[in-house]
Amino acid sequence: MKFCSQCGALVSRRTPAGDTHERYVCDACQTIHYQNPKMVVGCIPEWEDQILLCRRAIEPRHGFWTLPAGFMELRETTAQAAAREALEEANASIEIGDLHTLYNLPHIDQVYLIYRGRLLSLDYAPGEESLEVQLFREADIPWEQIAFPAVAYALQHYFSDRRLGQYSLHHGVHNASQPYELGNRSTQISKQQTK
Ligand code: ZN
Repeated sequence: MKFCSQCGALVSRRTPAGDTHERYVCDACQTIHYQNPKMVVGCIPEWEDQILLCRRAIEPRHGFWTLPAGFMELRETTAQAAAREALEEANASIEIGDLHTLYNLPHIDQVYLIYRGRLLSLDYAPGEESLEVQLFREADIPWEQIAFPAVAYALQHYFSDRRLGQYSLHHGVHNASQPYELGNRSTQISKQQTK
């Protein structure tokens, strides 16, 4: 941030009186511009023993597979955001169920919330941000081509819960100093689980 969105003057980094963090503060009107993490909200759309994935038509991770998910909008609930993203990315009508995954990415200031969701019909199609949309059985999940660690984390726990016959909320933290080897790790877990 360079300029104040209130008055257009320059901003500088400083810790306001009584605050604990450095903020962008306007040098002219003294407005404090708070910045906070963003919520990325999505769902795992279920149809019988399959789940719906979208192949991304946009960067980052163009061409990789993901769950329908995106940034929460103002004035909506997390469940509304999850349903809206499924509609936008997959033209899919979803009944949002229980929260399944909460995944923190502190190095990029994002928090993922992934719900389970019931796909209400097979009437789905790629939205603007998707190249294709497809149902997958567990054995066919393209683990090597999953777009994001949060999505891999949610899917791994989803399938292991399903095998146990009991779903619970999973809480994960991405460790940026230990790069997540998405393909390798997923493949290992997937192989262990299918033994
Ligand atoms: Zn200002």
